[in-house]
Amino acid sequence: MSRYTNAVCRLCRREAHKLYLKGDKCFTKCTLEKRPTPPGQHGRARRLSEYGSQLREKQKAKRFYGVGEKQFRNYFARAARVRGETGKTLMLLLERRLDNVIYRAGFARSRPEARQIVNHGHIEVNGRKVDIPSFLVSAGDEIKLRPRALKLEKFKAMAEGLAGHNVPAWMSLDAENWKVTILRLPERDEVDAPVDERLIVELYSK
Ligand code: SF4
Repeated sequence: MSRYTNAVCRLCRREAHKLYLKGDKCFTKCTLEKRPTPPGQHGRARRLSEYGSQLREKQKAKRFYGVGEKQFRNYFARAARVRGETGKTLMLLLERRLDNVIYRAGFARSRPEARQIVNHGHIEVNGRKVDIPSFLVSAGDEIKLRPRALKLEKFKAMAEGLAGHNVPAWMSLDAENWKVTILRLPERDEVDAPVDERLIVELYSK
């Protein structure tokens, strides 16, 4: 898929929500907090139509998880095939992505960085290298940083902070060994994406 390479803070300004795309900067010098207007010369918040609100919610979810349009549609189609609430299933599928798990485990400072870590082959799942960020984790999976990655300065620098990192209740972290175990699948209220999935379901139901 094509990747968005322009200043990512513009995405947060467009969605009027912090999407946490820049790691530590998001917690210290957040651009959205300084400039809470939409990007562009005439960046003024406009009243959105019903369709506009639905569209923005979909864009926000895509950008939060770093997923392209086609892939997002595939997630929705998969969620729609599952019995139960489609919107909720959609969010839980996104939350189970390997790059999201790496971020939530504290192995990366942002989801884009987590994606890069997976792409670079630094992660193994149940003892086998997995370099696909969209890989969906399951209950019982053990996810680890591969031994050669532990020698990289980037991870050495993060090791101390990892020990105090809080992970969601559906996973457990062994910081010393850079290992996270999926205890169970996440619940909707454990997903921290600022998304109202009902609007996405409405959008795709048109
Ligand atoms: Fe930029 Fe992070 Fe703030 Fe978003 S949350 S505007 S990516 S600093």
